[in-house]
Amino acid sequence: MNDKFGRTIDYLRLSVTDLCNYRCAYCMAADGVPKRSHGDILSIEELAGIGSAAVRCGVRKIRLTGGEPLVRRGILTLCERLRALDGLEELTITTNGSLLGTMAADLKAAGVGRLNVSLDTLRPERFRAITRRGELRDALDGLEAAKAAGFTRTKLNVVLMGGVNDDEIADFVGLTRAEDLSVRFIELMPMGVCAAFPRERFLSAGAVLAAVPELTPVGGDGVAELYRAPGHRGTVGLIRPLTRCFCASCDRIRVTADGRLKPCLHSNAEIPLRGLHGAALEDAIRGAAYAKPERHRLIQNQHSDTTRNMFEIGG
Ligand code: SAM
Ligand code: SF4
Repeated sequence: MNDKFGRTIDYLRLSVTDLCNYRCAYCMAADGVPKRSHGDILSIEELAGIGSAAVRCGVRKIRLTGGEPLVRRGILTLCERLRALDGLEELTITTNGSLLGTMAADLKAAGVGRLNVSLDTLRPERFRAITRRGELRDALDGLEAAKAAGFTRTKLNVVLMGGVNDDEIADFVGLTRAEDLSVRFIELMPMGVCAAFPRERFLSAGAVLAAVPELTPVGGDGVAELYRAPGHRGTVGLIRPLTRCFCASCDRIRVTADGRLKPCLHSNAEIPLRGLHGAALEDAIRGAAYAKPERHRLIQNQHSDTTRNMFEIGG
């Protein structure tokens, strides 16, 4: 699929639920997700149908996200169905890692190729404060279980927050010493609940290079600029939506758990997909991809145009 600016769109981020077992302070309100009725959220059948239509349109990579995708009932069935699609090259999941301890082996068996695990701190107290209900131990056990299940090249996503976790940059880089991990520092994006955070929370990912000056560039991986510390096995990635616009190489579309296709993370434009099947569904997906905006306005406006929170979109 191409958009009207000539970009190839071959990556779908599919949100399988807006529910989550955490309440990360930058993503969700303390009282969680507004209750929706079961029928408001795409069924496993509908999710598989949208994935299948997207692959027929030219999508080669699907990432399952949420909310927390591993709390979604039927997630393994969905993975198996997507993995069986002719033409899909990669199926990945973004997770907070809390349930990987019990699910990693099943996810591997269901065809998930790689994992992104979100982890913003290595300190138990801080972990509780950021997630409002999580335990660091669960995430660390989850990472171990993923390794034991045979997952390699796992990506660790760290959202950088000035005054919250920027004193842990060197500790996170240290994790890449012996492990084949990619630790990726992501700039906090002012959207949803965190749009009202104080200015100092929105730190440039350049802070990573200032904290660990021995990092040397080793190329790129999608939207991440990659670095390596001398002698380290893994890599360090910087993802800088706030300070470096990477829209020119954007290759993705997103579908929310309630079945709306978002051509751009930071736009309010949404195309309803529910109720569409066959050629009508494919036309809607192709049309939405074609109409992707050229770029977001996050940098000049310092806030996102979307009124959605991240847990509703999937990141
Ligand atoms: N629950 C899963 C998890 O936490 O990995 C998947 C969904 S979560 C919305 C996807 C990613 O979005 C996570 O890495 C999270 O840290 C990130 N995220 C949430 N809000 C964000 C924000 N305002 N700016 C940058 N990243 C954000
Ligand atoms: Fe849940 Fe992920 Fe949002 Fe945290 S970032 S509240 S784990 S959806």
